[in-house]
Amino acid sequence: MTSFPALAEQAWSLRFTDPGEASALAGQLTGADAAQRAQAQVVQGFLLWRAGDLLRSLEQVTQAEATLRDLNDERWLARALSMQAVLLGDVGEGERALRILQEELELVRRIGDTEMEASANNDFGVQIAWDDPERALQYYQRAYDLLDRADPPCPSIQGIAALNMAEVYLQRQQLELGDALTERGGQLLHQAQAWSFWPFYVSLRATCLTREGRFDEARTLIREAFTRLGDHQSAAGQPGPDPIESVQMLRTTAARTEYDSGHPDRALAWLRDMETWPGTRSELKIEYLDLRASIQAELGDHAAAYRSVRQLLDVSRTRHAYERDAQIKSLEVLHRTDMALQRSREAEQAAQHLREHLTQLQTLKGQLEKLSTTDELTGLGNRRQFEHDRALLHPDDAVLVIDIDYFKHVNDTHGHSAGDVTLREVADRISGALRRSDRAYRYGGEEFTVILRGVGNTHVLEVSERIRVAVAAAPITAIHDTVTVSVGAAVVGQRSPDEILGAADRALYRAKNSGRNRTSVEPAHPPGGTRPGHPGAHATGIGRAGLGTDRQNP
Ligand code: GH3
Ligand code: MG
Ligand code: MG
Repeated sequence: MTSFPALAEQAWSLRFTDPGEASALAGQLTGADAAQRAQAQVVQGFLLWRAGDLLRSLEQVTQAEATLRDLNDERWLARALSMQAVLLGDVGEGERALRILQEELELVRRIGDTEMEASANNDFGVQIAWDDPERALQYYQRAYDLLDRADPPCPSIQGIAALNMAEVYLQRQQLELGDALTERGGQLLHQAQAWSFWPFYVSLRATCLTREGRFDEARTLIREAFTRLGDHQSAAGQPGPDPIESVQMLRTTAARTEYDSGHPDRALAWLRDMETWPGTRSELKIEYLDLRASIQAELGDHAAAYRSVRQLLDVSRTRHAYERDAQIKSLEVLHRTDMALQRSREAEQAAQHLREHLTQLQTLKGQLEKLSTTDELTGLGNRRQFEHDRALLHPDDAVLVIDIDYFKHVNDTHGHSAGDVTLREVADRISGALRRSDRAYRYGGEEFTVILRGVGNTHVLEVSERIRVAVAAAPITAIHDTVTVSVGAAVVGQRSPDEILGAADRALYRAKNSGRNRTSVEPAHPPGGTRPGHPGAHATGIGRAGLGTDRQNP
């Protein structure tokens, strides 16, 4: 099955040679995602442009442009810009067209696509040709030269560039160069089968032939072009947009040829009713009305000639009105796009704010979490944090319960705030005595807990003693007096998280009862004995001498 992106590329590549098929392929993308729909719009925009429906074309490519810009699809954005520039040029927005072409040129150079760069150069030439044909020639030439080395070759755009050069040379009466470039352009369009541009070649070639008096060759050429146009339309599986512009161009060319060859009647027949056709580009209309007025005057039908001239005047007048109207409409289209872009930018900003807000919230949440697990006075982990960590103990870990001795006395003697400072200093001394892996908590009041990682039964007493000694080692600054603690310790072993605190508490109870300022370690489970935590555990655990694990400061 053909993938969607391939469909859009295929439709684009068929735009010159088979507009019907290109349109059908683009039509298949209406149900696809935004990117592919935008690509299809660019293709349809091109086809509508060739059919002479400038405003609908502009609407399509401008919508597409906004989407492609959002999606950063540079390749198709360049194509949309190219279309937009040409269309804006057609409706008299030359300045704007040039600015867009500038952006397109930069874009295609960055992408490094030769065909697109050539196309952009050619379009640039078209925009400035009226004011500055000399400079336009340079752009056409550059487009042509770029495509000389293009791989794969791109004869359609190279042919158009050649014909654009030919037109300038013919206008300047540099006939030989104009002829040669017309021929070259024709060959290339033929090779590309770019039939939607074929009438352009035919009109230039017919001008050359007519000038040399080769009228029959010109007629044949025009007749064949009509046939080709008809064949092409009927061959397409689905009819593309009407090639009105092509037909008009061919008919005007035919009329001029007949007129120049001395057959004003035949010339007039070619031009009949053309002014009633929809979607005629005003330039083309002016050209054939002018021609018709001359023919009618020559035929002596002055009333008809007068009517033609009146129409001509009307067209030139409404041309400005049309351009104004088209300008206003194109500005509306662009304005809507600007607003859509603005909205999407605002949405992006809102999303950005939300992201920042979220980051702030996360920071805040982190701070809250820290607060909710930290003891305000001492900065140690609080009871909540201890409960959390207690659930994750390993058998070799130990839990200590540390209680300040006679702390009521400290408060009574030095005041409550000196008591607070003392609590803080004791906390510092406890955590200062710990390894990195261990952690101290304020369990409540003047009671602390500590989790010692991986100490096992062999080291638990030694580490606990180090803590006890660290607290009592020097006087507390705030009270100029020493403070001691009693420590109850228990190694996790086979105990459950629920049992371990009770075990350490029992040890603390013993330490207090045997005189304070000492460490008591709860023995590991006696083999086959009653499980600790059970009421019977008290009896088996008591007795400093029993397991030799209690120590006191002399
Ligand atoms: P023992 O050796 O038996 O532990 O005697 P103790 O005086 O330390 O024990 P007790 O439980 O009788 O008194 C504890 C005191 O600790 C009572 C209370 O006022 C004080 N305390 C508890 N929390 C704080 C606190 O945050 N700040 C201060 N300054 N004192 C506190
Ligand atoms: Mg206490
Ligand atoms: Mg106490």
